[in-house]
Amino acid sequence: MPLVETMTPKERVMNALTGKPVDRTPVANPTNVATVELMDMVDAPFPNACRDPELAARLAATGYTELGFDSVMPYFSIIQESSALGCDMQWEEKDNWPTVRMYNPIWKGPDDVEIPPGFLEHSDNIAITRSIEILNRELGDDVAVIGKTMGPWTLAYHVFGVESFLLMTVDDPDLVMRGLHKLKEISMLFGEAQIAAGADALTFPDHATGDLVSGEYYRRFLLEIHQEMAERLKVPLILHICGNTTDRMEYIAQNGMASFHFDSKNDPQEAMDIVNGRISLVGNINNPETLYARGPEEVRAEVNRCMDAGVNMIAPECAVPLATKLENLIEIPRAVKAWHDEHDE
Ligand SMILES: [Zn+2]
Repeated sequence: MPLVETMTPKERVMNALTGKPVDRTPVANPTNVATVELMDMVDAPFPNACRDPELAARLAATGYTELGFDSVMPYFSIIQESSALGCDMQWEEKDNWPTVRMYNPIWKGPDDVEIPPGFLEHSDNIAITRSIEILNRELGDDVAVIGKTMGPWTLAYHVFGVESFLLMTVDDPDLVMRGLHKLKEISMLFGEAQIAAGADALTFPDHATGDLVSGEYYRRFLLEIHQEMAERLKVPLILHICGNTTDRMEYIAQNGMASFHFDSKNDPQEAMDIVNGRISLVGNINNPETLYARGPEEVRAEVNRCMDAGVNMIAPECAVPLATKLENLIEIPRAVKAWHDEHDE
């Protein structure tokens, strides 16, 4: 039977995040879906769209107005808090991601961690909180506004440097735990500021990725902290970790968060079987091969595979490459609707 939509995009996303029924599977974007084409369309290019609330809101809105997704998300990168902490930044140009320069970390170790006064008022944090206010005012009745606050593991890469932090986890795990507990208060502060600004949900990227650390690392260093974050931040949280995470999904399913944004390196059916309803899953359309390099037909095949597995919300697996073709992104909601047309009774 043809699909009849009875919910607003926002109701659909919030219901999926809180385990309630939906009229159709939502298409959400826990991480970036902005592309160079969209930047040109609304005259909101990187890096300014990462640093100016009006531009950030305008670019984020295209996720709904141009792509037809059920959510919008104005935090495109992963470095806003790190910039506010004083990390050495490379802001790049329109076609490239801003990054933290890793060779000159601001802190040597956990004892140096200190939240600078005026952290939330730093212009790169204001760019996010104020853009959430704008989106909430303009689209908030209809569309889910998703914010994003970096977890302590990701912050540790930025403030200590990836290599020295990973060495620290081997040399002195207790010191690392103390550092993560201090850094998690940064995640809290920025998360609470976004909730106050009107975020309906928060993505929580914490890059304990499959290619860098083991599943046992997740259990040992992060599970309890993530459970605490899920308790203390009062909106649904969406954990984001890239790569193959099948070996840690059993633990992720116990973290108390609403959802896990998972990568196409994980088989959707196998992932659904492991989490078994304890956490919802969002993802996992491949970026570098499918969305970036192939066409709508291949996108549809991947959407169908996720829909057949019962994945709770459909999305690109991670921040999309900035040169991704619009027709491929637009195909995601189209394919979801077509799947429902075919399968709903
Ligand atoms: Zn990612």
